[in-house]
Amino acid sequence: MIGAVIGRKPQRDESALIDLLLLGTGGMLPLPDRWLSTLLIRCQGELTLFDCGEGTQIPWKRFGWGFRRLGAICLSHTHADHVAGLPGLLHSLANADRSEPVQLFGPPGTARVVEGLRTIAPHLPYEFVVREVDGGESFSLPGGLVGSTALGEHALPCLSYRVDLPRARRFDAARARTLGVPQGCWRDLQRGESVVWDGGSAVPDDVLGPERSGVSLGYVTDTRPVPALPAFLRGIDLLICEGTYGNPEDASKASQNRHMTFTEAATLARDSEAGQLWLTHFSPALTDPEAWRGEATAIFPETTIGYSGLTGTLQFQDDRE
Ligand SMILES: [Zn+2]
Ligand SMILES: [Zn+2]
Repeated sequence: MIGAVIGRKPQRDESALIDLLLLGTGGMLPLPDRWLSTLLIRCQGELTLFDCGEGTQIPWKRFGWGFRRLGAICLSHTHADHVAGLPGLLHSLANADRSEPVQLFGPPGTARVVEGLRTIAPHLPYEFVVREVDGGESFSLPGGLVGSTALGEHALPCLSYRVDLPRARRFDAARARTLGVPQGCWRDLQRGESVVWDGGSAVPDDVLGPERSGVSLGYVTDTRPVPALPAFLRGIDLLICEGTYGNPEDASKASQNRHMTFTEAATLARDSEAGQLWLTHFSPALTDPEAWRGEATAIFPETTIGYSGLTGTLQFQDDRE
């Protein structure tokens, strides 16, 4: 797999990795043993949540990641199974003494829905900012991550998300000394700025190594596999994707309800050249998703059937050893 490995390592450089926790994997309604499809990621201790169905805070509490460091919520769309947990979660953030701002991203129409949900959570001790995005934008997410979006095809406007943890070029200190660059200028060069000092000058290319790939993931749910997605997701290390239906005979149902089968999700992972695939957002009628795993692995072998509590870590490749 390019650029990342999933699994823990003993020594952690928090700026070089993304931790992932799948809180739930259900679509439409929560079940006694299956919470609604929701993903939590952590980078440098800061949290971003993807979708917030009914009961999201319960598995969150169980897996012990804490609420206070949540800085952003990314909604795929505003169907109830993706937003109904919001008022309770906002209260839990308040109870956890969150005082820094929280941003919420979602497709057009999100602000009106969130305003409605906020009527039962009107007073919060932190700034809560809702930002509607159309698809195609990039924005900062907590912990130095970069988020971007693409429009999907569903009954409502729906966003697919890509998250990148970029990696700085290596700084060649020996080369900087040889060139006589004063140490006080090193930071500017690392940031990509040219420097001039008494007796000389340098540009970043003088002391920085080649571009290095970071790590990345995609979060795609409640959409048909629209043609723009493989290019949008190209080369990601992990795709977390809906597989509402396991049985290939449900393909017409998937098309009609604007969801995906396991086969379609696996094809999307393959066409995106993703490293791994986690399936989620299972129909309540899909009682044993594992039974249909072969439908996905036949196309994309690196497929995991998601479950509440599934964790992983994406980290810069040569930090593994
Ligand atoms: Zn859904
Ligand atoms: Zn939906």
